[in-house]
Amino acid sequence: MNAVTQAALPAAKRCPSYYSATLNQETHYPTLQGHHSVDVVIIGGGFTGVASAVELAERGLKVALVEARKIGWGATGRNGGQVTGSLSGDAAMRKQMGKTLGAEVDDFIWQLRWRGHQIIQQRVARYGIACDLKHGHLHAAMKASHMAELEAAYEEAVRRGMGAEVSLLDGAGVRSHLGSELYCGALKNTRNMHLHPLNLCLGEARAAEGLGALIFEHSEVLQIVHGAKPAVITAEGRIDARQVLLAGDVYHKLEPQKLKGMIFPAMGGIVTTAPLGELAKAINPEDLAVYDCRFVLDYHRLTADGRLLFGGGANYSGRDSRDIAAELRPGIERTFPQLKGVPIDFQWSCAMGIVMNRIPQLGKLSDHVWYCQGYSGHGVATSHIMGEIMAEALTGSLERFDTFAACPQIKVPLGAQLGNPMLAVGMWYYQLLEKLR
Ligand SMILES: Cc1cc2nc3c(=O)[nH]c(=O)nc-3n(C[C@H](O)[C@H](O)[C@H](O)COP(=O)(O)OP(=O)(O)OC[C@H]3O[C@@H](n4cnc5c(N)ncnc54)[C@H](O)[C@@H]3O)c2cc1C
Repeated sequence: MNAVTQAALPAAKRCPSYYSATLNQETHYPTLQGHHSVDVVIIGGGFTGVASAVELAERGLKVALVEARKIGWGATGRNGGQVTGSLSGDAAMRKQMGKTLGAEVDDFIWQLRWRGHQIIQQRVARYGIACDLKHGHLHAAMKASHMAELEAAYEEAVRRGMGAEVSLLDGAGVRSHLGSELYCGALKNTRNMHLHPLNLCLGEARAAEGLGALIFEHSEVLQIVHGAKPAVITAEGRIDARQVLLAGDVYHKLEPQKLKGMIFPAMGGIVTTAPLGELAKAINPEDLAVYDCRFVLDYHRLTADGRLLFGGGANYSGRDSRDIAAELRPGIERTFPQLKGVPIDFQWSCAMGIVMNRIPQLGKLSDHVWYCQGYSGHGVATSHIMGEIMAEALTGSLERFDTFAACPQIKVPLGAQLGNPMLAVGMWYYQLLEKLR
C-alpha cells in the first residue's frame, strides 16, 4: 500500500438534476475497507461497469464493482436518456473493421447497432427495473440536405427487414408528430427508445448485487496492481482478483502511460422545464425522443411527469458552462415557440468521453487487466453492448473484443494540453462543413 499517495476523494453527492430528484431509491453501498478476493473487479460504476458486472455475475463469476463516487454519478446518470441505433464512429468502424471482417463488416455493424436495445429491454423485464422506458424516436432534418442520410438509413432498415419499425416523414409529417415548425423531415423509428438512465443504472446495480456482486461507493481506485494475481487498491482497501476491468471512461486518471491522451472530455448541458401539463401532449403527443441531424446536435424528449428535457451544444473545449439554462433556452424557444418563457426547473452538465476516431476503445493493459471506454456521446445502448463483449472476453470468447481491439486507438501526444484544442478545431471544421451542406 506504500505506493498509494493520493488522498481519497471526499464523499461525493449526486449532481443535482431531474434524474437525481426522481431516482427510485438512493444507494448506500459501503466504502471499500480491508481485503477481498473475487474473480473480476470492475473500476467505475457507470453503465459500462454495471452492465459488465451483471453480465459476468449472470455467467456465475464473483464480481466486485468499485465506484469513486456514487453508482451512476458520471455521464450514465446525467445523459439525454435516448437509446438509439446510432453508434459513434460507425463509418470509421466500417473502414477499420473491414480489414479483419471483410464482407461481413456491414452485418457486424448492423447487429451491433441494435444489440444494446435487446439487452436493455431484457434486463428491464428480467429484473423489473422501473425506468420510464418508452419506444419511439425521430431523427429530424433541419434542412433538405439532411434528408439523404435519413433516406439511406431508411432504405437499409427496410432492406434488412425492419420496415415495420421505420417511416420517412416530410415536413407535414413531422408537424403531425411534433408541435414544431423547425424540421423539414425525419426518420421515425419505433425500435429506438428513451428512458430514465439513472434509474436504469441503479436497477442494474441492484440486479448485480442480487447475483452476488460486491458493490462499493466512495472508493476511488488509486492503483492497479498488474501480474498473475492483479488487484485494485483504494485508500482503505484492496481487492485481489483474477482479472480487472477498467471502466472509468473520461473520469479516471489511471494507467497514464498507456491511456493518457486517448480520451477527452466534452461538456454537455441539459435542462428540464417545469411540468407542462396539457402542453406536453400538444408538443409531443406520441412521447417520442428527438435529435437532429447536425454534427453538434440538439436533442429533446418528455419526461414521465411531462417536462421537456432538452440538451445540446456540447462544448469541446472541455470547459463547463456557467449558465446552461441561458444557453439552451434559445434552442427550446426556436424548437417550440409556444414554450417562450417556460420556467426551467433543473439544469446540469456532464463530461462525455470523446475519442478522436469515435471508435470505442477496448484493450488490455496487461495479461489480466482490461479497459473499455469512449462512446463519444452515444453510450446508453453502446455501453450495454460493450458490457456483453467485455464479459465474453473475460470468460474466454475474444472474437468481438478482438475486432474492436484491432482498430487503431489514437493517442494525442501532450494530450492533456492538445487534446481538447484539437477536438474543438475538429468540431469547428465539421460545423463549417455542416453550414455548407
Ligand atoms: C450531457 C450528456 C448527454 C448524453 N446523452 C446521451 C444519450 O441521450 N444517449 C446516449 O446513448 N448517450 C448519451 N450520452 C453518453 C453516455 O451517457 C455515456 O457514453 C455513457 O454513460 C458512458 O458510460 P460509462 O460507464 O462508460 O462512463 P460513466 O457513466 O462516466 O462512468 C464512469 C464512472 O467511473 C468512475 N470512476 C472513474 N475513475 C474511477 C476510479 N479511479 N475509481 C473508481 N471509480 C472511478 C466515475 O466516478 C464514474 O461514475 C450523453 C453524455 C452526456 C455527458
